[in-house]
Amino acid sequence: MVSNTISGEVVTPDLWGEIRLCWDRDARQWTLHVAYQSSVLPVLDPVNRLAVDEGIINPMTAAVVAPDGFEVTIINGRSARAVKHRRNTAVAALRTKMARCTKGSRQWRRYNAALKRASACAKSSLRNIDHQVSRKVADLAITHDTGTVVVGDVRGIEQSTRKAEKRRFGKDQRRRLSQWSRGRQERYLTEKTGVKLTYLDEAYSSKTCPACLTRNRPTGRHYQCHGCGFTCHRDAVGAINILMRSTHGAYTRIDPNAVIRVIYLRATPLRVAPSKALNRATSTTGGRVAEPSGSHATVADLTVPTAQTRDAA
Ligand SMILES: [Zn+2]
Repeated sequence: MVSNTISGEVVTPDLWGEIRLCWDRDARQWTLHVAYQSSVLPVLDPVNRLAVDEGIINPMTAAVVAPDGFEVTIINGRSARAVKHRRNTAVAALRTKMARCTKGSRQWRRYNAALKRASACAKSSLRNIDHQVSRKVADLAITHDTGTVVVGDVRGIEQSTRKAEKRRFGKDQRRRLSQWSRGRQERYLTEKTGVKLTYLDEAYSSKTCPACLTRNRPTGRHYQCHGCGFTCHRDAVGAINILMRSTHGAYTRIDPNAVIRVIYLRATPLRVAPSKALNRATSTTGGRVAEPSGSHATVADLTVPTAQTRDAA
């Protein structure tokens, strides 16, 4: 029998969705996680639009039309960058240590286990962050009743990193691109809203001035138009332009009196519980790996709560 670990309510097999068998490192036992739809998704009005600008620094920036202008929500991705950075540092340190040991020796196996654990923990932290990011955008879509979700199509950037053109980007930038998890965030967003995403060419969306349509090169996160003096957050500009293009078929000037309200949100990382072997291996570099404090840590952030049982019969 499967029941919800929080409410205790029984979940019948016809409701079961994704099923995962997970090793609980703290309890040292296997648990079966069954995801199910806890509530019926609202049907959103396709006339209302929400535009999403995706990026590496801020994974998702969402723009919707407000009565007096636009409401833009920028979701910060710093915690994901920190997790990836810690994992990359830890993996590199452990590989160096392992290279100095005899392969298969006791010490080597210890480091190898720490390496696997570091990767697994980073993976679950990143999945949790993707759930949080998509949850925040999904809540916006539901609040504003936007049945049309338009995403700036950035697939070209990823393709170009695989080709000869990739030399254009620096080593760090290429690594960030290859470790970008926008596909999963998009999938989660669809699951949480029930809305199929629409893709729109996003060329020049972060360069074009929404007020006068002049193209400018933003410096860092700040956008300032040399033509008309319009200033805004760069990602907000991108999201507004995608919204305008999707609504009017082309980049269109926004109302000069439009108020742009920018809200900043961030995904909160899971608590850190570093392992001993990993600490030993990375003590010289100071690297630590974020680990979830328990396998249920993500439940609160999911739309689809996880029901668990140890006897899956
Ligand atoms: Zn301008």
